Amino acid sequence: MELVLVLGVVGILIAVYVVSLRLNPWVKCSKCHGKQKFQGWAFSHAHHGCPKCKGTGRQVRWGYKFFRVGPNNGVPPR
Ligand SMILES: [Zn+2]
Repeated sequence: MELVLVLGVVGILIAVYVVSLRLNPWVKCSKCHGKQKFQGWAFSHAHHGCPKCKGTGRQVRWGYKFFRVGPNNGVPPR
């Protein structure tokens, strides 16, 4: 009986997580922390786009791809 209870709780947690993925599929980029670019160290007016998020400043939550939420194969709408 305890196993059923544990599975039920885990199922509810997963359901809550998936709902939250649908509501908020994006997080700040872990490399540039949402700044989208890195400043040059010698010429501070120069900068380059973050290679990880390609200058968008955000990244998809891993669970979005893992659970394949949404219709676009793990790519959330903008
Ligand atoms: Zn970035």
